[in-house]
Amino acid sequence: NDAAGVKRTSRVRVAVRLRPYIGKEDEKGEGPCVRGLGPQTLEIINWRNATETLQYQFDVFHGEQTTQQEVFLSSVKPITPHILNGQNASVFAYGPTGAGKTHTMLGSQEHPGVIPRAVREVFQLVRIQERDQDEWQFSVGMSYLEIYNEKVLDLLSPSSQDLPIREDKDKNIVIPGLTHTPLSSFSDFDAHFVPASLNRTTASTKLNQRSSRSHAILLIKVVKSQRIPPHRQQTGKLYLVDLAGSEDNRRTGNQGIRLKESGAINLSLFTLSKVVDSLNAGAAGRVPYRDSKLTRLLQDSLGGSAHSVMITNIAPEYKFYFDTFTALNFAAKSKHI
Ligand code: ADP
Ligand code: MG
Repeated sequence: NDAAGVKRTSRVRVAVRLRPYIGKEDEKGEGPCVRGLGPQTLEIINWRNATETLQYQFDVFHGEQTTQQEVFLSSVKPITPHILNGQNASVFAYGPTGAGKTHTMLGSQEHPGVIPRAVREVFQLVRIQERDQDEWQFSVGMSYLEIYNEKVLDLLSPSSQDLPIREDKDKNIVIPGLTHTPLSSFSDFDAHFVPASLNRTTASTKLNQRSSRSHAILLIKVVKSQRIPPHRQQTGKLYLVDLAGSEDNRRTGNQGIRLKESGAINLSLFTLSKVVDSLNAGAAGRVPYRDSKLTRLLQDSLGGSAHSVMITNIAPEYKFYFDTFTALNFAAKSKHI
């Protein structure tokens, strides 16, 4: 509810990021099939007629030259102050495997992505707040989990089993048993996060690209406490999500365990698209949060008074054509002009 007590259902901002053309991804040397036209628009070759293109518009289009800093400034930095005010937010990277989700969210040492930049920003905002006033104090903490085959796994406690998702009396989503690590600084965050994400990447090569078949979810929680009576307390949550690859798993001839994974991925991404659609259509109807673990988990941080942005990552090579096409249609549908 906003200040006037009016129930508000916020829409999800939709950004699209096109990564640079990587020759080695393009066995046939066909060149790019998609290109930017402006700050909100792009075009893709029409597969029905290769002499034509189809044009799409989004809230923001980040072309292949866009830096990590620009993506952060435009899509993520504006939502971080809300976390210090007891509000929730979520940022998720969507798109086919190989299109740049992990680059966008995690990045590299030389080109850090949204996650390290957002965490730095949160600590900076906390420092400024604590310098400029003394009524409130802040504490920052993290959890890091993975949804794999509709199971919720704690990446800070790798031996843990599937964890339950519950709603408390104030309609906050909680995961009993999930590790919560208090953090005092950015380097403290790095010390906990880097080994946990390395764990995940190493496991992924052993388990056939598991990282592209699970959703990695980092939660940064900021608790704001009043030092004087009535000692009020507010909690803000920021979810930073690297989603499973959105490629059509039916086409890749998956069988057995792979097929089960595909079913789980399809269920959660399909439900996510229905949730985003119904939030952005502004319809009064039911938002189907409960249809998958992912959307159930994000329920209090997606829609309602939360601030959310979906960064759809796409690749320019023809090899990705149909997955790009599907991802663009999802993103375009979510952006109701
Ligand atoms: P995903 O996580 O969606 O599977 P990755 O983030 O792993 O994709 O990206 C695939 C490859 O493309 C990686 O080698 C990554 O470094 C590179 N890449 C992705 N986005 C960019 C970008 N914007 N600029 C340069 N290289 C990129
Ligand atoms: Mg990845």
